[in-house]
Order: sequence, then C-alpha cells, then structure tokens
Amino acid sequence: MTRSAIVLGAGMVGVSTALHLRQRGWDVALIDRRPPGEGASFGNAGLIQREAVHPHPFPRRIAELTRIARNRSVDAVYHPSALPGLASPLLRYWWHSAPRRYEAVSRAYARLIVTCLDEHMALASAAGSAELLRPIGWMRLFSNEAQMDAARLEADMAHRDHGVGYRMLDGDALAEAEPHLMVRRVGALHWTDPYSVSDPHALTTSYAHLLAAKGGRFFLGDATTLERAGAGWRVQTAEGPAHAAHAVVALGAMAGTVTRRFGYSPPLFGKRGYHRHYGMRGNAVLNHPFIDEVSGFCLVPMRAGIRLTTGAEFARAGAPETPLQLERAEPIARSLLPLAERIEDRPWMGVRPCTPDMLPVIGRIPGQHQLWGAFGHAHQGLTLGPTTGRMLAEIMTGTRPFIDPAPYGAERFN
Ligand SMILES: Cc1cc2nc3c(=O)[nH]c(=O)nc-3n(C[C@H](O)[C@H](O)[C@H](O)COP(=O)(O)OP(=O)(O)OC[C@H]3O[C@@H](n4cnc5c(N)ncnc54)[C@H](O)[C@@H]3O)c2cc1C
Repeated sequence: MTRSAIVLGAGMVGVSTALHLRQRGWDVALIDRRPPGEGASFGNAGLIQREAVHPHPFPRRIAELTRIARNRSVDAVYHPSALPGLASPLLRYWWHSAPRRYEAVSRAYARLIVTCLDEHMALASAAGSAELLRPIGWMRLFSNEAQMDAARLEADMAHRDHGVGYRMLDGDALAEAEPHLMVRRVGALHWTDPYSVSDPHALTTSYAHLLAAKGGRFFLGDATTLERAGAGWRVQTAEGPAHAAHAVVALGAMAGTVTRRFGYSPPLFGKRGYHRHYGMRGNAVLNHPFIDEVSGFCLVPMRAGIRLTTGAEFARAGAPETPLQLERAEPIARSLLPLAERIEDRPWMGVRPCTPDMLPVIGRIPGQHQLWGAFGHAHQGLTLGPTTGRMLAEIMTGTRPFIDPAPYGAERFN
C-alpha cells in the first residue's frame, strides 16, 4: 500500500507519471473521465520542442498589446466576458515576463526542456511507437529581413547557451525544402532538433498501453471524488473505489478543481486552442511543420491530414467554443499551401494549462500528506510529459531527481 498511487488525469503528463511510477515498481491506478489522451494532449501541434528553452512571455511592447487589445488578430483573441476573472493571473503573468524575472524563469524552463527528446525516445522505444517521433524539426517563415535577423540572434543564443540545433534558410533554400509553398518568403529558421509527432493521441495511448502491459491499471472515473481514506486516498471509478497511499493531480487545466478542495488554489488559467485537418490538392506535400511569422498559426503534416493549430484564446472555463481564429487562419493557410477539403465538420478545441510564472507545478501539494501535483505545462505539455513524469516519480520514490525540482515547487503559489 505504501508504494501505491492514484494518478488523476490521463493526458501526456499523467500517463507519463503513471508509467514512471510503475517502472519503479509502484502499484498504479490511472484515472480519467475519458480514455487516455483525449484532453489537450489529443489535438496539439505535436512538436517535441527541444528548441523551446524560453517559455511564452506576456507581450510587453505597447504596439503588440494594442494589436491584441483590438481583438482582431489571428494569433491571440479573448472573450471580453473573461477579462475580469483573468485580470489577476494575467497581471502576474505580465509581472513575471519583465526582462530580469523572465531571464530567471527561462533558466528554470530550459533545464526541463533540454532532455525532452531523450525522455520521449526512451518511453516511445519501450512502447514500440518510436516511428511516431519524426526527427524533422519545424520552421518559422519570415516575410522580411528584420524578422530573419532577430530570429538568427535568438537562435544563436539558444545554440550557444543550450545546445539547440538550427539552420537559416534563404528564400531559395526554403522553396527547395517546401516545393509546394505557394508564396515566396524571405527565408526561414529551421529548428532541426525537435520531433514532429505524426499522431499525438497515438503517442499518449502507446504510453498508456505500455503502462497496462507493465501491470498498471486504467479506470474511468471522476477525479473530483478524491477523498481521504485513512492515511491514503480513495477515488470513485466506474469499477468501484480505488485506494492508494499517494495521489497525483495531473488534470491539466482542471487541476484546481481537485486541489482547491484540499486547500491549494493554484492561479491556473487556460489558453484555448483549436485545430482542423485539411487534405492537400493533387500530389502536394508539406515536409516540415511551420509557423508563418505574420499570422502565428501552425501547419503540421500529420497522419490525419494537414493540421492547422491556432494560438491562444482567452475565455471563461466552460464558455462555448468560438473558433474565430480558425476562420481567420484558414484563408491565409490556403494562400500558403494548396489545401483541399476540410476533413472534419467540427474543429477540435483544447486548453493549455498555464501558470503566471510560466513554470509547471511539479511536486508536493502543500499541507497535504502524499498529495502531489503535475500540471501547468502551458504550451509545452506534450514536450514535457515524460520529463515531468520521471522527475516526479523520482521525488515520490525518494530517489534524487535528475533535475533540481526547487523552481517548480507547488508552494510558490501558497
Ligand atoms: C492548439 C494547441 C497546440 C499545442 N501544441 C503543442 C506542441 O506542439 N507541443 C507541446 O509540447 N505542447 C503543445 N500544446 C500544449 C499541450 O497540448 C498541453 O500542455 C498538454 O497536452 C497538457 O497535458 P496534460 O496531461 O497536463 O493535460 P491534458 O492532456 O488536458 O490531460 C488532462 C486530463 O485530465 C482529465 N480530467 C479533467 N478533469 C477531470 C475529472 N474531473 N475527472 C477525471 N479526469 C479529468 C481530462 O479528461 C484529460 O484527459 C498545445 C496545445 C494546444 C491547445
């Protein structure tokens, strides 16, 4: 019983944590109200972002803030009704994004990021799903030299400080790399290290299958039924109550719905995002995922088609879906690539779980015996699931964690 855990939430973070605990011999029950991998981990852009050594800061330039405030952008939109509830976390997000604080945050963030490829490859190899991890990187496309110069500087620093691989492509090299691109761009930054996952849902489910093969159990159940049971924990599942000595909250954007009941209210907020798939006309192909710097959405070649994923939408939890960004992005995407029909009628929507200081919560929930948190991975939860799972499993099993966990401690929000 002492070496047992209930892991709440079967997204990339929860599945990876459950798997790492099981690999260390713990008895593990993974709980979700849906089958594994159907939350935000389902529909992301599928990038294992080795280059993302700097998290997404809150914009601080007046011109950019004004552009976003107009609410007509493709990359960021908001529901005005959400602003009162978001004021406090967004103000804190803005505060943490000030240059000196952001530098410290980035140092802590980079430590999580640098091993992401190895951590995924270890799990994917064991799960037999390594072929989903395509070593093709991704590109940022630029329409003027100033953007290219700024990106080159940024890439140089990421290479020098964190060993990130990249190459700069001029317009001709870009046209050669992507022969079906229908516009001429000045050039591109190709981040060469990242994996592009051809099916993010299949990757999460492959890790869940490995967990089952190793003796971990999955149950459908509602995490909000978590309660104390003696010194341990109990949660109701479709197959009756599950008990364990430890409980891990890995519920992505919904983590607060459980932790609040035990006295811990993290200032989590969501950045919603949408996707839709498209066919390609004729024999056209897209060889690399890319973001066109002007419009800020992503186009990724996936098993299901060309996946268009959007930037951030700020809305109240549970507010109706408003895929405005997809509507704005689609005509631009069609001017870039010979896209054919939409593959689904309805777009997919998911929520990136964000914290004001841009760092995830990985560690003990304050004031509660053997209650742990693994959430708040924002734009890089697919990337960081296995890293987080290993780190938390090492902490829980009393092994020295391979990354110093101090910056990600839950107590920083107490
Ligand atoms: C458009 C878009 C593009 C993105 N692109 C990338 C990318 O390229 N690379 C990257 O690294 N990240 C990307 N992300 C971010 C990434 O998808 C998330 O950070 C990540 O999926 C979070 O994983 P998670 O396991 O914490 O949460 P989730 O995957 O959301 O899992 C949480 C789980 O909790 C379950 N749950 C919630 N409440 C309850 C309850 N009461 N009872 C039971 N179960 C419950 C849900 O069903 C869900 O399965 C993107 C996100 C979006 C939206």
